[in-house]
Amino acid sequence: MTEPITDADEAIRRALLDAELPPLLAALATATGDPKLLPDHLRPSTINRLVPQGGYSLEQQQEARTLALAALAGLRDARIPAGPEAADGGGMLDAAVRFLVGTAPERYLPLLADELAALDDPSAPGWHKDDLAADRPFHVVIIGAGMSGLLAGYRLGQAGVPYTIIEKNDDVGGTWLENTYPGCRVDVSSHLYNYSFFEHDGWPGYFSTQDVLLDYFRQFADRNGLREHIRFGTEVLAAGFDGAARAWTLRVRTPDGGTELLGAQAVISAVGQLNRPSYPRIDGRDDFAGPSFHSARWDHGIDLRGKRVAVIGTGASAFQFVPEIAGTAGSLVIFQRTPPWLGPTPDYHAPVADGLRWLFRHVPGYAQWYRFWLFAGSVEGGLPAVEVDPAWPGGERSVSAANDERRALLTAYLDHLFDGRPDLLRAAVPGYPPGAKRMLRDNGVWAAALKRDDVELVTDPISHITASGIATAEGEYEADVIVYATGFSASDFLIPMTVTGRDGADLHKRWNGDARAYLGMTVPGFPNLFLMYGPNTNIVVNGSIIFFSECEAHYIVECLRALLAGGHGALECREDVHDAYNEVIDAANGQRAWGVSSVRSWYKNASGRVSQNWPFTLMEYWERTRRPDLGDYHLL
Ligand code: NAP
Repeated sequence: MTEPITDADEAIRRALLDAELPPLLAALATATGDPKLLPDHLRPSTINRLVPQGGYSLEQQQEARTLALAALAGLRDARIPAGPEAADGGGMLDAAVRFLVGTAPERYLPLLADELAALDDPSAPGWHKDDLAADRPFHVVIIGAGMSGLLAGYRLGQAGVPYTIIEKNDDVGGTWLENTYPGCRVDVSSHLYNYSFFEHDGWPGYFSTQDVLLDYFRQFADRNGLREHIRFGTEVLAAGFDGAARAWTLRVRTPDGGTELLGAQAVISAVGQLNRPSYPRIDGRDDFAGPSFHSARWDHGIDLRGKRVAVIGTGASAFQFVPEIAGTAGSLVIFQRTPPWLGPTPDYHAPVADGLRWLFRHVPGYAQWYRFWLFAGSVEGGLPAVEVDPAWPGGERSVSAANDERRALLTAYLDHLFDGRPDLLRAAVPGYPPGAKRMLRDNGVWAAALKRDDVELVTDPISHITASGIATAEGEYEADVIVYATGFSASDFLIPMTVTGRDGADLHKRWNGDARAYLGMTVPGFPNLFLMYGPNTNIVVNGSIIFFSECEAHYIVECLRALLAGGHGALECREDVHDAYNEVIDAANGQRAWGVSSVRSWYKNASGRVSQNWPFTLMEYWERTRRPDLGDYHLL
């Protein structure tokens, strides 16, 4: 609920300096019903989030602030009490949506409308098991209590479907529980990286730190009574489908080290992609005499003060913790194999500005419109800049004119960051197209750390690890501690569980290191097994992965509805449907920077196929997951 406005004009004027103006006008128009707040000449010229304030000129910004001040003073003087979220005063909702996203394709409007109504939870199951099959025993086991598993549990709870979540850790949160390295934070806007229907009271930063996100997911679990469904400290070892019983049996390791069998009519795997640490195969790794640990298993018991610390890797994790430990460690030596592209993000570490917070608290619906605005810009996000133009002769430099333009901008940014350090600049400019590997958000702290006298960047390949440090062909770098910032076994989906489907089929044998699924969720031969954040559902240049989890949870719950309503035992994806779908995915990934570039990345599996990424917009996934087409499945 918003708070009534009591502030003087001057205070409101100050707050407006921090406003994101286009969604503010939309919020005020719907709160007041005044169409004059949406004049044609203040329609944003773009929804691209790389362009500040929707492309408003300074004059347009000034005019928008003047209009907003008048509207806010009006709300204050009329003593409009705390109102509902996203009111639709005077039927302005449609006009405000079109005002904001008039540049978006018409096809996006249903998705955007859904998104705007998020707090009303339009994706909540509109059914209850008691109304469909009250007496049918139907229990679902969800594996993992991270962001996706909690969501699946919440949705099943809404539909009255009994469920248990099996979680190997002792708390909820998944990746946000496990990654505690210094400086850990998300690189998607806080106001987007959350469940659309579960608002945060007030994000402290534009990009949330790990502790804030962990707290958010804990609150989600606590406020919705999810913990009572979770068995903590319990790990699924194996899951097998019994064709006669149309049911799964899961073998789990219990907290006391014993094993137990659990039955389920359906299984939802929500184990994540980026959670099994990957340690490099480097000779001599076991010879190192000092302490060493992976960034995702940060050993807070080791005091780095004054120590010589060696870091292997320069991906997203190293990028966040290196600036934090530089200056604390006695010295740092960083081994870089491939440099990342850096996306300038000045407010990456900034707290949400006071004025913006004030507006969230006082303008009915502004938080929702703000989220909507971020979301609208992320439906395509950076996709157009990573699409391959087959006629473009860019090689490993760039994949299209737009991509080349991005390269030029990002290179200019690197020039600026490493001004005066040609050695670092040479090492920093990637030899692959922007988007082929994960781009990192940057506010300058990485370059500042690398420029320190007590920090050294090594680009010579590591030859081996010794008892006292890390050796390259050029010599040895002595170290007291080694930190492996070497990422995760992302393409090893569902490992190390054994999963046996119909007729004894083994999931890992079927995949043979090349995981595929239909819509990332269902696999032929594995009835009533659903994967969340499965193969080819990772997005890297557009949006928040939580959006995908919401689509998946919705689709899975709709599948269960179909089973319960139709009296079917199980559903199993058709092989031809699965294959045709994967052909489309592969063809599209082959037309993205990450598919054509030969650069190494966790988007690809050992065979070189892009098994992680979704190559399309958010829109396509949303459309495909609204309702299962039962024609895609064998009904058992
Ligand atoms: P990563 O991106 O896979 O980076 C691993 C790093 O280790 C790379 O620099 C890699 O070099 C290097 N490496 C691996 N094996 C090596 C070897 N044998 N010798 C030398 N270097 C080696 O892993 P990450 O940094 O943990 O990030 C993984 C993903 O997690 C991110 O892309 C992101 O999706 C997510 N994440 C997100 C955030 C965030 O939201 N801000 C933070 C952390 C992680 P090559 O590049 O040459 O392979």
